[in-house]
Amino acid sequence: MQLIDNYNFAGKKAIVRVDFNVPLHKETMEVTDSTRIKGALPTINKILKDGGSAILMSHLGRPDGKVNPKYSLKFILSKLSENLPGVEIKFVEDCMKADQAVAELKPGQVILLENLRFYEEEEGKPALPKETPEDVLKAAKAEVKAKQPAFVAKLASYADVYVNDAFGTAHRAHSSTALIADKFTDANKMFGFLINGELKSMDTVLQSADKPKTAIMGGAKVSDKIQIISRLLPTIDNLIIGGGMTYTFIKAQGGEIGNSLCETDKLDLALDILKKAKEHNVNVYIPTDAVNADKFDANAATNTSKTDATPNGWMGLDIGPETIAKFTEVIKNSKIVLWNGPMGVFEFDKFATGTTAVAKALAEATANGAFTLIGGGDSVAAINKNKLADKVSYVSTGGGAMLEYMEGKELPGIKAIRK
Ligand code: AMP
Repeated sequence: MQLIDNYNFAGKKAIVRVDFNVPLHKETMEVTDSTRIKGALPTINKILKDGGSAILMSHLGRPDGKVNPKYSLKFILSKLSENLPGVEIKFVEDCMKADQAVAELKPGQVILLENLRFYEEEEGKPALPKETPEDVLKAAKAEVKAKQPAFVAKLASYADVYVNDAFGTAHRAHSSTALIADKFTDANKMFGFLINGELKSMDTVLQSADKPKTAIMGGAKVSDKIQIISRLLPTIDNLIIGGGMTYTFIKAQGGEIGNSLCETDKLDLALDILKKAKEHNVNVYIPTDAVNADKFDANAATNTSKTDATPNGWMGLDIGPETIAKFTEVIKNSKIVLWNGPMGVFEFDKFATGTTAVAKALAEATANGAFTLIGGGDSVAAINKNKLADKVSYVSTGGGAMLEYMEGKELPGIKAIRK
């Protein structure tokens, strides 16, 4: 497999799949969080510094195969320029019509192509509403698939080398994330620094022999996390459960959960996880106390109770003080920690205490020499909200992609390059 560190981009045109799917302000259309733009800079800078040029391609939002000015990548141009001072950046308004701009592209310069998803061929699915009759949908899909090779070939024709640095879409078999790789020889396709960093940190969590290894799983539903938990059980020492999924475990064990979130069809699954954890000698930490609310509201009245004795009419929306103390202790004593999913409804300040405490414990563990990986939109948001991103080992840029990789699935964008 070609490594970007070893590649000399001098005189080469590189087409780079970046993830510029950034949040925009609803009215001003300004970039409100440029983390993803910054994430692509090491790769872009290496190409330019070597004496190469970069053709950047990305999606933004879900225009579903149609041109939609609301999702134009031109809105990110000024932020990109700010982050690449002194670099000439040309914006091409149609990703299929870049021939001239590419011909004029000189070493040290950058082209940004318009949103790839303005074409159905990028995702390989037709821009039709869900309620479209099955047969119409099938025919339309076949039509898009038939057009896809030409789309892929056009993008590939712009460049000598392909770099994939969009981890957030690595679990999608799209034209720019996977199919295009076949158009380049092994020596001329590679991951960028961002994807390399993501893979390295996930592999550290999965493969490191350092102990104790702790996985913290939070969020709303156990059904979303079951696969990753099953995959991790043979390799971890501690499993910390938090968030809404707590109550499926508590109910499965006969506890009173009031109006707390519960997947009643997953009770057996919860018991099965506990059984398997025991077989693998994994210590499972389920919240013992909670902060409850009388309604799902930022201004709800609150009380504290044991998680298995939630008062009637109340729902657990955050972990309680006893649980925070226990979780903090386990995290601080760990050498490897993976965190995915909040401990409570952290979007409401009243119920953010547990999630904040876990974020801080991760920072402390990192300071003590642990390797800590945070993934999943909500846990990343919690780390950022507490300004702790530079106090943990790695903050993943791809929630869904990270989950799938850690579940052991083969990601099309990774498979296309990793040999
Ligand atoms: P997920 O996408 O599965 O990681 O779930 C994240 C969501 O879970 C967040 O929006 C949280 O508000 C929500 N959540 C966390 N704890 C609870 C809880 N105890 N009850 C209901 N929702 C929760």
